[in-house]
Amino acid sequence: MGEIVSVDRPARHSTGLEPLRAQFPVLAQAVNGAPLAYLDNAATTQTPLPVQDAMRRFEQHDRANIHRGVHALSQRATDAFEQARNDLKRFVGAGAEHELVFTSGTTEALNLVAHGLSTSGAAPAVIQPGDEIIVSGLEHHANLVPWQQAARRRGATLRILRPDAQGRLHPEDLAQLLTPRTRVFAVTACANATGERPPFEALLALAAEAGAFTVLDAAQSVAHAVPGLSALDCDFMAFSGHKMYGPMGTGVLVGRRGALERLEPLRYGGDMVAWVSATEASFAELPLRLEGGTPNVSGAVGLAAAAAFIDQTGRALIDAHLSALRAHAAAGLAGLPGVTVLSAETGASAIVSFVAEGVHPHDIGTLLDEQGIAVRTGHHCAQPLLDHLGLGPTTRASFALYNTHAEVERLLAGVSHARKLLR
Ligand code: PLP
Repeated sequence: MGEIVSVDRPARHSTGLEPLRAQFPVLAQAVNGAPLAYLDNAATTQTPLPVQDAMRRFEQHDRANIHRGVHALSQRATDAFEQARNDLKRFVGAGAEHELVFTSGTTEALNLVAHGLSTSGAAPAVIQPGDEIIVSGLEHHANLVPWQQAARRRGATLRILRPDAQGRLHPEDLAQLLTPRTRVFAVTACANATGERPPFEALLALAAEAGAFTVLDAAQSVAHAVPGLSALDCDFMAFSGHKMYGPMGTGVLVGRRGALERLEPLRYGGDMVAWVSATEASFAELPLRLEGGTPNVSGAVGLAAAAAFIDQTGRALIDAHLSALRAHAAAGLAGLPGVTVLSAETGASAIVSFVAEGVHPHDIGTLLDEQGIAVRTGHHCAQPLLDHLGLGPTTRASFALYNTHAEVERLLAGVSHARKLLR
């Protein structure tokens, strides 16, 4: 691959991405009479042919249940699943001290952590009455609501690390909130509503130093700026397959083995037990302990293929491309009268969120859709952040490695047209 280098040129009519785009057949269609410009990648990215092929190969040749079969297909399926686990560990820079658990997505992974730390099993729950949980104010509801529930369940206090008026987080503010009772600190690596990239390395380090379990939501960064796990003070990191060119209904919880061992399982049943009597059971070792039931095996194979696709394309090239698209879009939108771009002057990447004075985002989104441009409108499952910034619902365009500067120009023209029409 490597054609993505074309984006280094600011040429607006660059066609160098075509070989890459050809890997994504869904993009080659017209919507409402115009070529599709798919700019809703923060919600879900498209999958390339190599990911679809890997899953089809598994389904056509190796499909069987894993871990409990002596026959050849079961063994091949088990090998494929465990190979996917190892490939994904490598992808996120996991070391010998880390383990990786397959989940159905970021939401399940974060619920597993919040539930697992706040539920008693053979050992008392980690979170005790009077303890404190700190969650950043940039979070998707998936990294907030499970902590609200955990705090409620245990009689703990939930504190919010508030962003400033530009939507930025500051380590000195976290330092003020940390106490000896802080059990958990949870933060995103990239805010889905604004694209803001907080200084999560410093924040996690501060929280770990204070003795808290640290949780990183990597759902929005893993497709273009994969956090390197071994370099972080991170106990738990979560991400979703469908946001990194992989299959829907797949995801990962990866973290320190010692921290994962503290989690009470979310799902009890087959595959996660060591022995079972009529009245009692003991649980298997990690990672199976946290993977009760039959997993999405072809999904895991597809997810590993997606990670390989990212690496073959080039992580740094993808990141540079997405930053260039974001900068182009943010500058163009900010130049339109009455338009405010969120996180306009920060190191945001891949996502541009904006509001237009006097025009409802839903109407902008509908008019853009009429021109074949797919964006997302609303609160983006981050209502407390948008309320805090005083902006309400927004229109959000989000980019992937196959998007072009020509599509950004179409977005800008579409928003300008919508503004004139709707005001
Ligand atoms: N965290 C962030 C930052 C997200 O953007 C999302 C989805 O948009 C999620 C968590 C939830 O991901 P999923 O729906 O794949 O579980």
